[in-house]
Amino acid sequence: MHLGVESAYDKKTSIMKIIKTINEIRKQVSSAKSSGMRVGFVPTMGALHAGHLSLIQAAQKACDFVVVSIFVNPTQFGAGEDLDKYPRVLELDAAKCESLGVDVIFAPQVSEMYPEKFESWVDVDGEITQSLCGKSRPGHFRGVTTVCAKLFNIVLPDIAFFGQKDAQQLAVIKKMVSDLNMLLSIEACPIVREESGLAMSSRNDYLSDIQRADAAIIYQSLLSCEELFISGERCSNVLKSKITSMIATVDYARVDYIEIVDPGTLEPVEIVEDKALIAVAIEFGPARLIDNIILSLNNV
Ligand code: AMP
Repeated sequence: MHLGVESAYDKKTSIMKIIKTINEIRKQVSSAKSSGMRVGFVPTMGALHAGHLSLIQAAQKACDFVVVSIFVNPTQFGAGEDLDKYPRVLELDAAKCESLGVDVIFAPQVSEMYPEKFESWVDVDGEITQSLCGKSRPGHFRGVTTVCAKLFNIVLPDIAFFGQKDAQQLAVIKKMVSDLNMLLSIEACPIVREESGLAMSSRNDYLSDIQRADAAIIYQSLLSCEELFISGERCSNVLKSKITSMIATVDYARVDYIEIVDPGTLEPVEIVEDKALIAVAIEFGPARLIDNIILSLNNV
């Protein structure tokens, strides 16, 4: 395996590059674009798992040149959160990307993205950022939108790929792109799950084997809620209480939120008429796990 750093892109020999600077990634992308390639972009914080890899594969299907960013973005972590212990395994990630045929990894240092005197922030206002994870992680989405706006400006992709796993992040990014007239499209990819049903996450590695097995209750509770919906229940409070009672069977699990909302605006829905997102965040020992499912009358 050959991992070139900051050298010229060479599609013929399929050498994947790991690029650390903004200048260099711009050169690589602009050279791909000038050969008429469509650029796909997959922003990540690394510690790649099959969920991330599914985004890369979707990008490869739709585009000719795929950039994956690996950057643990400090501005989206609050005080006391897991910024320091977040896994950083660039070599392993690079091997996974290379085996899939990724063209370029963009892995900047924090100082490259946030030089001294960095003072410009992108902030999406309203319920969409203040509800759900925004309530328990104030400032989180400001960090996410700022870094994504910067990455979009640096990479200038035709399409950026995001996982439905982070449903609120997806809604917020779509809103930012629309409000700020950014010239790219956002494609949503389905949630990839472990065999137990637990949604894959880089944070699952914080769990012990027992906690990991117990955490399967999260998806089971979402599925039971969906069954209740399919059998005719439309009241959000009743649907949510099904999840609450199932999570309560794991004595150390702590519910951060269980909400039923409009999938686009994230406004609360009291009676599910047509389509709604059930989103949950559960503290499961050392990891705060999020998951979601879309209820739709089309599935009934
Ligand atoms: P992260 O590295 O956690 O910032 O995630 C990078 C991207 O991968 C985001 O768009 C996530 O929504 C997506 N992602 C993370 N986990 C999954 C999963 N289990 N299935 C699909 N996409 C995922």
